Amino acid sequence: MKKDGVLTWVELSRSALANNIKELSRLAGSRLLAVSVKANAYGHGFKEIVDLLKEKNEVAYLTVHSLEEAVLCRQVGWKKKIMVLGPVPLAHLAAVFEYQLEPVVFNRETLDMLGKISSRLRKHIATHLKLETGTHRQGIMEKDLPVFAALYKKYPYLKKPLGASMHFANIEDTTVHEYAEYQLNNYNRLVKVMTRLGIKPQIRHTASSAALILFEHTRFEMVRPGIAVYGHWPSKETYLSYRLEGGRNNIFQPVMSFKTCITQIKDIPADSFVGYGCTYRTTAPTRLAVLPVGYYDGYDRALSNRAYVLVKGCRAPVRGRICMNLMMVDITDIKGVKLEDEVVLIGRAGKEKITAEQLGDWQGTINYEILSHISQALPRKIVK
Ligand SMILES: *Cc1c(COP(=O)(O)O)cnc(C)c1O
Repeated sequence: MKKDGVLTWVELSRSALANNIKELSRLAGSRLLAVSVKANAYGHGFKEIVDLLKEKNEVAYLTVHSLEEAVLCRQVGWKKKIMVLGPVPLAHLAAVFEYQLEPVVFNRETLDMLGKISSRLRKHIATHLKLETGTHRQGIMEKDLPVFAALYKKYPYLKKPLGASMHFANIEDTTVHEYAEYQLNNYNRLVKVMTRLGIKPQIRHTASSAALILFEHTRFEMVRPGIAVYGHWPSKETYLSYRLEGGRNNIFQPVMSFKTCITQIKDIPADSFVGYGCTYRTTAPTRLAVLPVGYYDGYDRALSNRAYVLVKGCRAPVRGRICMNLMMVDITDIKGVKLEDEVVLIGRAGKEKITAEQLGDWQGTINYEILSHISQALPRKIVK
């Protein structure tokens, strides 16, 4: 930490990642495992996570949102398959051939352009069609499938779609999964329509983490977990549903810890205000620690006067507003604290822990947002 001049950093546990991949791969069985590294690998650090995943034979695919992320995967040396889930600008579709990517297609224009480029280059391209089943985000409506089938016939180098995908709207939001079942029925019907139109997909894939964990009949030929790879449950409801079905205690281990260290300690009298806006005032003589981390680093301002950090394995409350680069915590009751002592923002210390889920509750958001907002600029360190 201090010896390398770094005051605030992210730690990534190699063994936690290995555990999570092992558990997911056990759930996936013989199906292909496609791991999501979008959003800077859910805030963990793109390069470090892709590097660690390279060592994992179980992982067949990486999934990313954007073309930029896909290109980064190749630059980091990922040789296996990459599926691009999000939109690629029409003018940049040639990159899909150059970098050997598998785009998930949901517009006619995209497929037409891919067809044109494939004919010009005389190169095959593997595509996946995203089917609209009730999330009403990206996805092809049933009535439009014949247009897509016609494009596959028109351009010989497109061949047939390799895959057909869908995404559940609320599988992680509830312990009642009627809507997920409704969507899955729609999906199965649409796959039949594709088959009738002569564009039968070889790889059906629908399952994000929650679906993969909870429902075997969503796994088909490939699964696409994200958050669980990093050791987090998609939601309390997913964990509850899992346990209600007799699932083992927590099978995942969080990969990330978020840490900083104390850069000033000061004793201030009773009745002192702390921080911008004078939102906190001491009621007794107080020992404060100043930490070199703020909302710029991804420690959200909504945590002002609300969250706790761990100092010497004890909870220290945040006092006053979170600043852009700094924050203050109360260490009055914690013995023996020294300058540059380590502070845990997310993670464990002694018997205590602060989780991304806990921060999400304090902040009024979900673990996905907490994790993905952790600044890309902070150094990442790989530990055991
Ligand atoms: C992000 C994403 C996933 C992974 O979701 P998790 O809930 O993080 O497992 C799967 N499929 C699609 C289409 C996604 O966008």
